[in-house]
Amino acid sequence: MTDIVPKVSLNNGVEIPQLGFGVFRVPPPQTQAIVEDALDVGYRHLDTATIYGNEAGVGAAIRASGIPRGEIFLTTKLWNDRHRAKDVPGAIEYSLEQLGTDYVDLYLIHWPLPMHGAFVDVWHGLEDLLDQGVVRAIGVSNFTIGHLETLLSQARVVPALNQTELHPRFAQPELRAYEASKGIATEAWGPLGQGRYALGELPAIAAAAAAHGRTPTQVVLRWHLQSGIIAIPKASSRAHIEENFDVFDFELSADELAAIDALDSGERLASDPETFDL
Ligand code: NAD
Repeated sequence: MTDIVPKVSLNNGVEIPQLGFGVFRVPPPQTQAIVEDALDVGYRHLDTATIYGNEAGVGAAIRASGIPRGEIFLTTKLWNDRHRAKDVPGAIEYSLEQLGTDYVDLYLIHWPLPMHGAFVDVWHGLEDLLDQGVVRAIGVSNFTIGHLETLLSQARVVPALNQTELHPRFAQPELRAYEASKGIATEAWGPLGQGRYALGELPAIAAAAAAHGRTPTQVVLRWHLQSGIIAIPKASSRAHIEENFDVFDFELSADELAAIDALDSGERLASDPETFDL
C-alpha cells in the first residue's frame, strides 16, 4: 500500500516519499491519534517542527504504530531562537528526545531570519550534524532565491530541499526553476492553500475534478505530484486523511496542469520571508 507513493531522490541519494503528512497546528494532545491514523492509512513521511510543540505526539504515534522506524521518513525543524551554530547540538538533542528517536531523516532551518543574517552560521551547525549521522539530510524552509544564493556561496553542503509556501494561487515558478537548477528539491507547505480559499471555486480545478470524478483537493495534490513537488498536506479528520492519500490512480493531462499553473497570482497567504523576523 505504502509503496504506491513515488519517491524523490534528494541530492545526497536519500529518498523521500513525495506525499507526506504535516502536523502544523495539530494540538499536542491530539497529535498521537491523528498521526496514528495517517500511518494506518499509509503515509510514511511525517513533517513536524520544534515550534509546533507536538514532536512528542509524533514520536509516540510512530512507536505505537509498530512500523519500523526505518520505514518512516521523519522531518523536524530548528526554530528561530537557535540561530547560531553553537545552538544546533542542543536543539537537535531536544527534538530527538521529544520524538523518542536517535535520528531524523531531514532537519530544516525553519526560517531564514534575514535580519540577523545568521542562517549561514547555523547552516554550518547542520552540516556538522550530517557528518555525525544524526540527520540523514539537511535543508531549509522559507528561503527565497536571494537567501539560497547567499547560502550556496558559503555552504559546504547544498541543501537537500527548500520547504516553502506553495499552492495553486502561489505556485513559485521562479523559485522552483532555480532550485531545480541547483539540485535542491522543492517541498510545498500549505499545499492546499491552508483551507484559506475554496479550491473548488477555481474553474481550472473544478473542471479537472469533474472530468476525473475526484475532489478539488485530490486534483490539487495531483498537480503537486505531477509537477515534481513534494507535498505535506495536513488533515484533521480520518476522512480527509484518506481522501488526500487516495491520489495515485488518476492523472491530470498536460492541459489540465497548465490550466492550474495559470491560477498563480504571486500572492502569499503567509509571512514574507524577506521581512519576517522574530
Ligand atoms: P494545508 O494546505 O495542508 O491545509 C490544511 C487544511 O486544509 C486543513 O486544516 C483542512 O482545513 C484543509 N483540508 C485538508 N484536507 C482536506 C480535504 N481533503 N478536504 C477539504 N479540506 C481539507 O496547510 P498547512 O497545514 O499549513 O501545511 C501543511 C504542512 O506544511 C503543515 O502541517 C506543516 O507540517 C507544514 N508547514 C510548514 C511551514 C513552514 O514554515 N515551514 C508553514 C506552514 C506549514
